[in-house]
Amino acid sequence: MKICVVGTGYVGLVAGTCLADMGHSVICVDKDVDKVATLNSGGVPIYEPGLDQLIARNTREGRLSFTTDGPGTIGAAKVAYIAVGTPSAADGSADLSGVFAVAELIGRSATGPITAIVKSTVPVGTADRVREIMGQYCDHSFDVVSNPEFLKEGAAIGDFMKPDRIVVGCRDDKTRAVVEEIYKPLLRTGKPILFMDNRSAELSKYASNAFLATKISFINELSRLCETVGADVDAVRRGAGTDSRIGLRFFFPGVGYGGSCFPKDVKALMHMGAGVGSPLTILEAVEDVNHRQKRWMAEKILARHDGDLSGKRVAVWGLSFKPNTDDMREAPSLVIIDLLLAAGAKVVAYDPEAMSEAHHDLGDRIEYADSAKECAQNADALVLVTEWNEFRNPNWGELAKLMRGREIYDGRNLYEPDDVRAAGFSYSGVGRK
Ligand code: NAD
Repeated sequence: MKICVVGTGYVGLVAGTCLADMGHSVICVDKDVDKVATLNSGGVPIYEPGLDQLIARNTREGRLSFTTDGPGTIGAAKVAYIAVGTPSAADGSADLSGVFAVAELIGRSATGPITAIVKSTVPVGTADRVREIMGQYCDHSFDVVSNPEFLKEGAAIGDFMKPDRIVVGCRDDKTRAVVEEIYKPLLRTGKPILFMDNRSAELSKYASNAFLATKISFINELSRLCETVGADVDAVRRGAGTDSRIGLRFFFPGVGYGGSCFPKDVKALMHMGAGVGSPLTILEAVEDVNHRQKRWMAEKILARHDGDLSGKRVAVWGLSFKPNTDDMREAPSLVIIDLLLAAGAKVVAYDPEAMSEAHHDLGDRIEYADSAKECAQNADALVLVTEWNEFRNPNWGELAKLMRGREIYDGRNLYEPDDVRAAGFSYSGVGRK
């Protein structure tokens, strides 16, 4: 099938590439000229494991290409995905200007019947609005499908190719058949397409992200209680999470959730509920806990030094909001680093993939190291923020020689406290005894 994907970010690029790999003929459109130029010269503008090989194979075999020419591409397509960003507006609502601009573009550019598929995360009622906008410009028959994406950065290809389910909101059997044809290659895995109305599909995405954020804030708040009452959150996590009704996934204590989705989707759902007189009060607490959790590791360091870190050098391992991505959006590292700097610390950081993204946010306010070891050199304290694999098994003896001080702050409970202490360090984790 001839498919056009408008918006070539984390979601659009992965979706477009995977759809091409499934045998469709895909053209990805983006308004960002540099991004398209990078892709056309064989580069990949984001870090996502396995994506570079998949793009190379599908472009080589002629199923995948990239352009800034929206009208021409849409005009030749039967299906147009909308995969542009829906960032938080100042009031917490989802900014839909990008989605509506693309709806207009599709309406104006269609040269025959077309199906618009909204992949972006959008509030309830957006598909109706997209229909209205397209209707103003389109002389051909069209319909609008709500098909939210559930992939996780860092494991995006696997998630797209082997989804737990595909959620599809649409109005009639004809549109349903188009969607079934697109995803037919994925159905061999036995996972279902869940057909429903557009509004329910739109809300399913927010329900999913808000629930996962709630689960994270719940274990994070418990981790504080654990420290106060002398329990160990790792044991509590296993004790409760092995109940099959609860589950261990997304049930890790840490430095708070970040990224491009959970923070903005929690906000957008709260805004949506409040706007129709059906507030989601639980999410106010979820956000509040998350804000406090992002500060907690830095506050522990500050408490140890009576709030004054002048003259201290603090090493930060990991900057991206989670491992296996270079995405820095709403990363807890930014909050931690701000607090450390405000207390007078010199901060030196290292991340395997996010250094250049981090530089956009942090500029010259911190130093950047070329390796984990270089980062630790002469540091008074080391804080592990993002659990990249390469940080999992440090040689504590070697670190003790490299570092000036003896303080380890483990924001992900990655280390065995006894191993760390045996090398002469103090150890502080999240909710551990
Ligand atoms: P992104 O910011 O990485 O990418 C969006 C892309 O759209 C950019 O390349 C931008 O240049 C392009 N764009 C914007 N307006 C355009 C226009 N008018 N014409 C052409 N291109 C345009 O965003 P993302 O992370 O891929 O997220 C996209 C959507 O998917 C959001 O709604 C997000 O909530 C949702 N989502 C994201 C993830 C994730 O993990 N990133 C997962 C599931 C769902």
